[in-house]
Amino acid sequence: MMHDDHHQHEHDDTHEAHDHEHDHSHDDGHDHEPYVEDYFLGEAMSVERLSPSLIRVVLKIAGGERLIPSGHADEWVRLALRPDADTPVTLPVKMEDGEWGRPDGSKHCPNRPYTVRRWDAASHEMVIDVVVHEGGVAASWALGAQVGDVVGICNPEGRLWVPKGSQWILMLTDITGLPAVGRVLEELPTGFKAIVHVEVPCEADKQEIVTQADVSTVWHVCHGLRDDREGYTELPRIAGEIKELPEGSGYIYIAGEARAASACRKHFRDVLGFDKKRIDAIGYWIEGQARV
Ligand SMILES: Cc1cc2nc3c(=O)[nH]c(=O)nc-3n(C[C@H](O)[C@H](O)[C@H](O)COP(=O)(O)OP(=O)(O)OC[C@H]3O[C@@H](n4cnc5c(N)ncnc54)[C@H](O)[C@@H]3O)c2cc1C
Repeated sequence: MMHDDHHQHEHDDTHEAHDHEHDHSHDDGHDHEPYVEDYFLGEAMSVERLSPSLIRVVLKIAGGERLIPSGHADEWVRLALRPDADTPVTLPVKMEDGEWGRPDGSKHCPNRPYTVRRWDAASHEMVIDVVVHEGGVAASWALGAQVGDVVGICNPEGRLWVPKGSQWILMLTDITGLPAVGRVLEELPTGFKAIVHVEVPCEADKQEIVTQADVSTVWHVCHGLRDDREGYTELPRIAGEIKELPEGSGYIYIAGEARAASACRKHFRDVLGFDKKRIDAIGYWIEGQARV
């Protein structure tokens, strides 16, 4: 997960992973294999209420031997769901011209990005943690998900890329980024310094994450709608309270509501003067808008 190239990019970030049949052609300056477009069906093996705000679904991926992990610890898939109650999930197919499409006229399936919390390449089981919220095809599916439900996924892609020589990582996320925090902390090398701030809706959403890294975690119990303030998230306030960063070179990963993530990036870049090439801020969701 530690790499020797530097980020060449500063993305807008609010429309990352915008479509299931999406464009992977952008050159992100990373030394990894180009994205291979591919689609899979997954069947829910278990559905569990992990905590008040999270539903954990374990999917068995058919043809999982073809799945190509991205090499990024924050990798995600687009989770494709039934277009309507009467129509099953179907996948695009590779056509004669090499493009992916639906020549049989099958219905496009709505899909949303979800972090691969865990991938077991031997059993082809994929763990996904879905945040419960009002509305939304994905959250609504998760709330009523049953063992045996079939969904679609694509090959994973990812962003998190700790520049080689970094001495620390700072992760600042709301609860939608908690699955990424879990996966990243599990994969960090022994003793690597990590500072983690996660905004969750309630105490019971805090998680115990097993890691070899040297982690200090601060939980902020304030996510969600409340009468006493506007909006869902206090991520920009939480960022603003971070007045100094550790010694040495580091990397900052921000995930949350799109405008909030962007405001957090500005704090580190403009107020603390941190190198913008060492910040990835991703709008995981967009208040008032579907994440299509
Ligand atoms: C790279 C990446 C990884 C992600 N990983 C995860 C993950 O592991 N787990 C996870 O739960 N989410 C994750 N997300 C966020 C998830 O894709 C969005 O929350 C998405 O909008 C959910 O789809 P939906 O169909 O439920 O809602 P949508 O149809 O997209 O939106 C419907 C309405 O719900 C609102 N909404 C969407 N998400 C939230 C939310 N979290 N809280 C409150 N309101 C919301 C929207 O503003 C909109 O008004 C990730 C996003 C990205 C880009």
